[in-house]
Amino acid sequence: MAEVKGQEHSGSGNLAILTKVDKLRELIGNRIALPQLVVVGDQSSGKSSVLENLTGFAFPRAAELCTRYATQITCRREQIEAITVSIIPNQDASPDAQAHVKKFHRTLMGLDQTTLAQVFKDANEAMGIRPSGNDVTSDKASLPAFSKHTLRIEKFGPNEEHFTVIDVPGIFRNETEGLTVESDIILVRDMVKNYMKDPRTIILAIMPSNVDPATQEILKLAKQVDQTMSRTMAVLTKPDLAIEPTTQQIAIDHVMGKRNDLILGYYIVKNRGPDHADMTLEEGQMDECEFFAKAPWSALKHTDRAGIDCLKRRVRELLIDLIKKEFPQVKLEVIKELNLLKSQRDAMGPSRDGPDTQREYLNKISETFQSLVRDALGASYARHKMFSNHTLRLMTRIVEANESYSDKMARTGHTRQFQSMGKDKHSKSKFDEDIEVLPDLYPGLREIFDPVITPVPKSDMDTDILDYIEGVYTSSRGQELGTFSGSLLGTMFQEQSKKWEPITVQHITLIIWHVHHFIHEALRESCPDSKVFDELWNTYLLDELHSSYCAVLERAKLLLKIERDCCPITYNHYFNDNLQKEQSKRLVCAVEKLGVDEFTLDEAHEDEEVLKIPKSSLQQLAVNKSNSEHVREYMHDVLYSYYKVSRKRFVDVVCQQAVNYYLLAAEHSPLKIFNMQMVLRLNEDQLDTIAGEDLHIRQRREKLTRDIANFEAALKTLKGSE
Ligand code: GDP
Ligand code: MG
Repeated sequence: MAEVKGQEHSGSGNLAILTKVDKLRELIGNRIALPQLVVVGDQSSGKSSVLENLTGFAFPRAAELCTRYATQITCRREQIEAITVSIIPNQDASPDAQAHVKKFHRTLMGLDQTTLAQVFKDANEAMGIRPSGNDVTSDKASLPAFSKHTLRIEKFGPNEEHFTVIDVPGIFRNETEGLTVESDIILVRDMVKNYMKDPRTIILAIMPSNVDPATQEILKLAKQVDQTMSRTMAVLTKPDLAIEPTTQQIAIDHVMGKRNDLILGYYIVKNRGPDHADMTLEEGQMDECEFFAKAPWSALKHTDRAGIDCLKRRVRELLIDLIKKEFPQVKLEVIKELNLLKSQRDAMGPSRDGPDTQREYLNKISETFQSLVRDALGASYARHKMFSNHTLRLMTRIVEANESYSDKMARTGHTRQFQSMGKDKHSKSKFDEDIEVLPDLYPGLREIFDPVITPVPKSDMDTDILDYIEGVYTSSRGQELGTFSGSLLGTMFQEQSKKWEPITVQHITLIIWHVHHFIHEALRESCPDSKVFDELWNTYLLDELHSSYCAVLERAKLLLKIERDCCPITYNHYFNDNLQKEQSKRLVCAVEKLGVDEFTLDEAHEDEEVLKIPKSSLQQLAVNKSNSEHVREYMHDVLYSYYKVSRKRFVDVVCQQAVNYYLLAAEHSPLKIFNMQMVLRLNEDQLDTIAGEDLHIRQRREKLTRDIANFEAALKTLKGSE
């Protein structure tokens, strides 16, 4: 009768829903809590016996065999009859340990006790726990007694009803010499509590009938995790051992609901006792029927709460109701988790397991990097958040530096103050500026800069430039009259421009620093994987960058050499303009000295001062100066006019060639080193060292891919399309 009812309840709809849960358990059971049934209680309270009767799976009978890990038993309707035993690894165990236990897999065709006992022995060994009883050898005595892995037993057959139930180790309070230690007590307690606390778990609290349930610790534990006691069901066992009528009555009262403290109430079952070890499960169940038919237990006949069949029917109903109630929520959780997993996978970027994917990966990075370079050079700073850091606004930094270089050259580039500049225009301190100190972020740059940066020589503010020119002229003049030899201009120009080299080198190093800093940060920005960045930067880019900086510095020095050491040349008309301006200034000055009366010429020139010079005085004008004085002034004016033209030309050439072309725009500029061509030139070994993934990253990616596939399959199952 009970059997028929049970069959009814597992009508095709319920069968389908139970099949779904099994499938989900398989796919995502270790990540999403699913509706489940857990059997808990003290050691030896009869948990495993109840489980056997619920599932029809008989554990090997060995006196000292107690449950030392969680066991999940699943029954499933399949055409073939078989039992498979495997281990679900504890998620917190090391990957190696997980892989090890995963290898354990046995398939049995029947329920032969000896074979089964051997399978359990093997499973113990695979989990690395201490063998039981006589098998404990001294070398294995130190192994732990309990394991956090889960033993999975699947029972297939044409008559099976879909059902999953979990057996956990029994709670105990005292250590057993040589068997269990204090930490085991805590470990088991935590494991049991962990199973019980999930709101999708129905707790079957097993307790023997010969004790008063009111004193049972397991119910107190259940109360802690299930405060309303709405998912806890008590199952009394061993009624055959409750001999005293009072004890029997207490049990009967509980089952009848007279002292009800649980919404799901009390059930009572009688399992095979140790004296009936040779009885089959079926024989045991027949024995149970007979037992409950007799007084005083026959009083329970109409409660539908005595005997394993009633219990089984009820827990199946409960489970199905719970599943139906929880499915929508489970579905939401699966979707949420799936999205999380996908975003984790996306954050890892595409897999890089071969030269093609590695090259593609590096190409992407180089594209991103080059687009940052373009933005930086075009001053399109709004296109990337990186540019909110102003030190990375490359073009702006460079324009600023160029401007300040040009200004510095104009103010302080000359060794001696030219006459026409006026002596007090610049204070001495402003004239000799200190070298700008760059942040010492890149030790490699220091190695390049230190040898080339030299202190800027002090300007000679005390010697009058005309005295200096006089010295040069008198020590090297030849027979030329009224003029001076061309080579003297070269000599004077070199002396006057000797600060150019240190100022220019300092400027170039400043720009190199900015470029280097930008490349470093832009690459880091383009390259989310720090290992790839380190490899690319240290092994492949630094050397090339450094040599390209050295080349730029060489280039700047060449420009200096050309401008300063070669014969002075210019076709710029400003040279003549300047020269004539200087000369006429002198003339005006001389004339002014002769000037006598001032008067107003006529009404048209009312506001202008007009000089009146006697003709005789004017004739004196040219003869007032000595030959050398005249040449000295003339030399000054030529030097000044040429210096001015040359300085402007040089500053432009440095900014245009060394900075703009060689450092920024040229095909081989440091900014262009990391590009697609470089990635194309890398061979397979190089690709693998730069872009290959660490083992742990690869494992993580594989695990994510597996998890995503499982969650996708789970979602499909939940949506009912499979
Ligand atoms: P567990 O430690 O909670 O899993 O308990 P077991 O199911 O292994 O049972 C412990 C012992 O109690 C075994 O020897 C069982 O045969 C025995 N046992 C379990 N249930 C009953 C029962 O209803 N009646 C009797 N007499 N013995 C039982
Ligand atoms: Mg047990």
